[in-house]
Amino acid sequence: MSHPKPSLPEIAKVYCPMCTHTVDARIQPAPQPSGVQRPIVTPGQKCPHCSASLDAGYIFRINRAA
Ligand SMILES: [Zn+2]
Repeated sequence: MSHPKPSLPEIAKVYCPMCTHTVDARIQPAPQPSGVQRPIVTPGQKCPHCSASLDAGYIFRINRAA
């Protein structure tokens, strides 16, 4: 069974402010009242380096696969 989800999570490079590493993390679109879609880090992920929460991480680069 394989049917695509409507909002597939994307992987992005996220900067961890705790250990200053850039790690792969899932992001998700977050519609703003202004109408501009600004991706946010999907909550609940931890940095593989320092185990800090990436909720406040800074999205460095989004890998878009077509
Ligand atoms: Zn870290």
